[in-house]
Amino acid sequence: MRFCLLASGSKGNCVWIGAAGGGGSVLIDNGLSCSEFLKRATLAGLPLGGLRDIVVSHEHSDHIGGVGPLARKLGLTVHMTKIAAVSHATRLGPVRLRTFEPGDTLGMGDISLSTMTGSHDAADPVAFVARRGGKSLGLATDLGVVTQLIRRNLEGLDALILEFNHDLGMLLGGPYPFFLKQRVRGRLGHLSNDEAAEALRSLNHPGLRELVLAHLSETNNDPGLARRAAESALAGHGHRPNLTVASQARPTAILGI
Ligand SMILES: [Zn+2]
Ligand SMILES: [Zn+2]
Repeated sequence: MRFCLLASGSKGNCVWIGAAGGGGSVLIDNGLSCSEFLKRATLAGLPLGGLRDIVVSHEHSDHIGGVGPLARKLGLTVHMTKIAAVSHATRLGPVRLRTFEPGDTLGMGDISLSTMTGSHDAADPVAFVARRGGKSLGLATDLGVVTQLIRRNLEGLDALILEFNHDLGMLLGGPYPFFLKQRVRGRLGHLSNDEAAEALRSLNHPGLRELVLAHLSETNNDPGLARRAAESALAGHGHRPNLTVASQARPTAILGI
């Protein structure tokens, strides 16, 4: 299985997951314009031939904003939860829509995509674990807290994309108004570097090959601080996965497991 984050952060997110050997591919979220998506896909060298589906994690603009236009341009089926669809499907415009319940496993070509309820201030947010050929990739961003359900699902994976949203000191001392600071910190907000590092301490294991720090705030975080928090969580283990810090501005390399 291979994967690439085309963009990550509050101005737009998009993750491509592909089965090696032509077994299809799937997108999770798109907050980019069509032209920006295609520019970055070309830059990253993504094969888009087997792409049929795009799955929406939740309805915030940085995840859903570019889904409708891209689905129409590339002829993709859009998948979102029933509850999210009731209140937010109209934002997609005319698309081929399929709904699911959190907890369902979706078949996407050769990739199976497990879904699980997240903790975030959206109608029905979900996190994901993609599996193919004995390999597994977890995607958990936009989380106020790492619940037992999320933690259990992220154990024992080959690759993990985990939110390192903010440095608490930068958030509290930064320019956000008080209510927004409270929202970001809350159980339905975003994971701080320390919270994500704490989760990572228990999720790191000898089989974890790729770790991506994702959804970093451009205002309230610094890639160096996020990396340092992750490194300190990994330090006691004797096992260190390959570490990538995802960016808002450019795609990651295509990572493989
Ligand atoms: Zn987001
Ligand atoms: Zn969100």
